[in-house]
Amino acid sequence: MPSNVEEKNLKLLLVEDSADDAELLLAELRRGGFAPEARRVETPEDMRSALQDENWDMIVADYSMPRFSATAALRLLRRTGLDLPFIIVSGTIGEATAVAAMKAGAHDYLVKSDLTRLVPAVQRELREAMVRRERNNAEAQIKHMAYHDPLTDLPNRLMLIERLKQAMLEADRYQRLVGTLFLDLDRFKSINDTLGHNIGDELLKCITSRLQECIRAGDTVARLGGDEFAIVLADIGEPDDAARVAGKILESFSQPFQVAGHELYTSVSIGISLYPLHARSFEDLLKHADAAMYRAKEAGSNTYQFFTKEMNNHVAANLELETGLRRALARKEFKLHYQPIIELGSGRIVAVEALVYWYSPDKGLVGPSNFIPLAEETGLIAPIGEWVLREVCEQARIWQRRGIKLKRLSFNISPLQFNSRGFTQRLIKEFEHCGLSPASIGIELTETAIMQQPDTAADMLTQLSSLGFWIAIDDFGTGYSSLSHLKKFPINAVKIDMSFIQNVTTHAGDAAIVKAIIGMAHSLNMQAIAEGVETTEQLAFLCENHCNAVQGFLFNTPLTAETCENVLRNGCRKHLSTLFQTIPVRKKPVIMKR
Ligand code: C2E
Ligand code: MG
Ligand code: MG
Repeated sequence: MPSNVEEKNLKLLLVEDSADDAELLLAELRRGGFAPEARRVETPEDMRSALQDENWDMIVADYSMPRFSATAALRLLRRTGLDLPFIIVSGTIGEATAVAAMKAGAHDYLVKSDLTRLVPAVQRELREAMVRRERNNAEAQIKHMAYHDPLTDLPNRLMLIERLKQAMLEADRYQRLVGTLFLDLDRFKSINDTLGHNIGDELLKCITSRLQECIRAGDTVARLGGDEFAIVLADIGEPDDAARVAGKILESFSQPFQVAGHELYTSVSIGISLYPLHARSFEDLLKHADAAMYRAKEAGSNTYQFFTKEMNNHVAANLELETGLRRALARKEFKLHYQPIIELGSGRIVAVEALVYWYSPDKGLVGPSNFIPLAEETGLIAPIGEWVLREVCEQARIWQRRGIKLKRLSFNISPLQFNSRGFTQRLIKEFEHCGLSPASIGIELTETAIMQQPDTAADMLTQLSSLGFWIAIDDFGTGYSSLSHLKKFPINAVKIDMSFIQNVTTHAGDAAIVKAIIGMAHSLNMQAIAEGVETTEQLAFLCENHCNAVQGFLFNTPLTAETCENVLRNGCRKHLSTLFQTIPVRKKPVIMKR
């Protein structure tokens, strides 16, 4: 062999009773450019331990030996699950035997007296084994990816379902229970928003390890996406066992997570459903655990809730509501109502706010707070919002034509709608199309809507503001931003959430908050508008504290377009002046002009 050709290593397991025959074979391989490192075995026991002790490239086996045979060796190899090339050599081999050997899984066979085919056969089998290995690795990787979450490497929903099904079968067999826990992190979004996605991702990984510490080996933690996780407790004896695990998880979250130099606290809300007590299908188990999780959130988060039948009714009711809502658009069952907004300095109606109502044939009149949250959740808010936009334009035009004096017509824009692609362009086009001046239009957005992508929101609002649109932050005080956060946005007014107004004359805390909001709004050159004013005492407080405008049942509920038109024609000055007579206005309200 030429010395410049590099010898190829070959780990060869020889199943051969004759040392001489083995040597001949090795010599042939050396001549063919291999540097074989071989071990010779001649019994099943030796072969088994050879396979256990070391990794081999290939097996070459003698066809028949006193205590062993190639076919028995093949069977043994099969049982180990290893995929190794297997070549049979034999002193004499009939065609029938050769065929039988190949059928049993041998890759090739050779006759000892003619080893010329040995080297090419070994070369070919090594190549093919490599191809098989690569293919198997790729398949394993694809399978792993299909069943795991790329960020945390936890099982994903598919794998969770497999494990859940498996656990349900076992539970049937041994009369046990399966617990399904649905977990949703509390306020994870604000961590993501304030510290960035990289920190958010790292936190999710830390959470993964902590969850894994709370469960047993046979249980499964899966990530369902975003900040949602699920756990299958594969084998539990009683409902309390699931509660104990949930309690342990909540407890473990009381310690901070150390992420890139930050000490982060987050909590989690957990919903629990049990097989077979709550449902018999995996779909229902997950759905019920999800519903229970929502209840845990409603109960103030950082807690767990078991599924109950009433929740099921809630889910069913939501489903029915969703179906109804989908039809409502097509059947034109929505109608806008308008609630007047009264300027405190002049006592005049300066604006009306459009609110969408649903005239359901089954349920009667449904107010927006009963369906807007579900519409947001299901994405139905997008088409509903588009309809509201067109309808607002239409009504503004009608009132303009009829000579109704109205400074502004406001409407609500949902976070989903505001953050949808091309929203500002659609809005501007719609108003241009109707020939309406943006100065007569107000848009109401929540803090959540603009804080989702604050930079993009700032650009969008700057554009809208420069065109003349009036912009208000709705439900102010319920979101997470402070007024100073809002400084960079061109905002005309904040609408103080009605939860503060309701207790403004009875709770010192709420009174202080309302005063602070009004003061800060004015210092930032914004107006303050109070929502949900129901009593003259509340009105008095707002007047004293220089709130700019109010809206509430004390004046009007949301009205149909026709009724609102009458109110707008006749004004409500008389009504207001009688109201003002009954309240002790110590200071005349100061109106801030922008
Ligand atoms: P919002 O924009 O804060 O609207 C004010 C809510 O306060 C309205 O509730 C109104 O009926 C209610 N309200 C007004 N005065 C009083 C009062 O004195 N006492 C009480 N208890 N409530 C009062 P509504 O009509 O149920 O609307 C709820 C929410 O639904 C709205 O809150 C708004 O966020 C949303 N919404 C309404 N219409 C639309 C819409 O067209 N698009 C979007 N995206 N959201 C809408
Ligand atoms: Mg509003
Ligand atoms: Mg509001």
